Amino acid sequence: MFFSIMQNPMIFKTFELIVFQASFLNLVFIGKQGVGKGTYAQRLKTEFGIPQISTGDLLREEIKSGSELGKKLEAIMNSGSLVPDEIVIKMFEKRIQQGDAEKGFILDGFPRTENQAKTLDSLMKKTRKKIDLVLNFIAPDKVLLERLTGRRQCRQCGTIYHIKNVRPKIDGICDKCSGQLYQRDDDKEEAIRKRWGLYEKQTKPVLSFYKKQKKIVEIDASKEVSEIYPNIIKTLKSKKIIG
Ligand code: AMP
Repeated sequence: MFFSIMQNPMIFKTFELIVFQASFLNLVFIGKQGVGKGTYAQRLKTEFGIPQISTGDLLREEIKSGSELGKKLEAIMNSGSLVPDEIVIKMFEKRIQQGDAEKGFILDGFPRTENQAKTLDSLMKKTRKKIDLVLNFIAPDKVLLERLTGRRQCRQCGTIYHIKNVRPKIDGICDKCSGQLYQRDDDKEEAIRKRWGLYEKQTKPVLSFYKKQKKIVEIDASKEVSEIYPNIIKTLKSKKIIG
């Protein structure tokens, strides 16, 4: 019965569409600060309708709320250190349970330690999901430093600009909401170098963790966005993660 139905091209097409829409697209983005993970996650979000979950953004929201926890987080983040696992994991678990993450998600900035990767794995198993692919974005330090130290963010709506590459119409003012643009303390060279040092030490075990699972692909992130994004899509297609 099933096979005779599936031989009907019209019904088969509908079935294929339903399966595609119901399927998951669970990605992890890894890479040093400045490789552009957030930019590509945003574009995939728009194209596939799945949320970008950035632990950096979740932590910044907590800071914005003015809570006691937020004050502690601000000091840790401004120093370039990683926020303790128990705080990040708790926030992440709460976020991943929201309805919009049912269809899939792009994790940007999580997991950053081996302990976080293991927690994510058991969380996936519990909910009968899996991480489809881990994209490791790579670019030389010199390129990344120029990108990061030139980055400016809107205090009001969070839009990101760059003093050379993505300039606002009026210097220091957001095009979207007229908010004031500022340089995040963690985008200053000293903090960046500290974060990179930590990255080497703490995030590399995360790469080994996913290498063992054969889930990692490398993406050359030194090129222009217009070249990198199509390359991501090509990679997802070649791994049969998207059709
Ligand atoms: P990001 O916006 O991803 O560059 O994150 C900014 C800062 O938030 C980092 O330098 C860390 O202090 C903190 N942070 C973000 N994600 C994590 C994480 N998964 N584990 C620990 N700290 C994090």
